[in-house]
Amino acid sequence: MASNHSNNTSPHAQVSHIACPDCDLILSVPPLAVNEVAYCIRCDATLLRNQKNSIDRTLAFAITGLILFVISNLFPLLSLKAMGLTQESSLLSTALALFEADRPLLSLIILLTTFIFPAITLLGTIYILIQVKTNRINRYTALLFRFLRRTDAWGMLEIFMLAILVALVKLGDVADVIYGVSLYAFCLLILSLSLLSYSLNPQDVWNSLRNKQGCSL
Ligand SMILES: [Zn+2]
Repeated sequence: MASNHSNNTSPHAQVSHIACPDCDLILSVPPLAVNEVAYCIRCDATLLRNQKNSIDRTLAFAITGLILFVISNLFPLLSLKAMGLTQESSLLSTALALFEADRPLLSLIILLTTFIFPAITLLGTIYILIQVKTNRINRYTALLFRFLRRTDAWGMLEIFMLAILVALVKLGDVADVIYGVSLYAFCLLILSLSLLSYSLNPQDVWNSLRNKQGCSL
């Protein structure tokens, strides 16, 4: 393990055995000081970082993300105006339009990756972090957290955003494109989810869960 050092060790830290996310090497990581980072000795991937106020900061990003998620779904993302007709599209109406166009599988993928998994990530993260902060962890908290960690990569808002940008370029010549307030909220939602993922230190949550009796780890 390689790390950069400072002086303050987190009171919740303890020796952890962590599998490298890139090469699966199992490593023993001693307690880290605040702002210290542990790297894999084989592939140099980041194993663990001990960030100050990780739980509070992540909770703030998750709540912000949830507000932006609601706004993203309340209003149209885009409106297209051509030949006197206006067509509005939102996240859910896009999935519905694909279903009505006999593309049920694509519709389901859009629904899962742009609506269901981001919603589960935001609501689940808020629920778990509030439990950790209020010391009300129950036997299902660990199962839910493990589920969230495994499905973390299934939300693909960035790819959907890329598809919107491609569509904007292609449709720009044949129709007037009006950007909805949801499009701005959607961009900020992508940023919030990225910051949430970066600021969350899973080891902080696991350490809190391990300290609770009856927790199914
Ligand atoms: Zn590695």
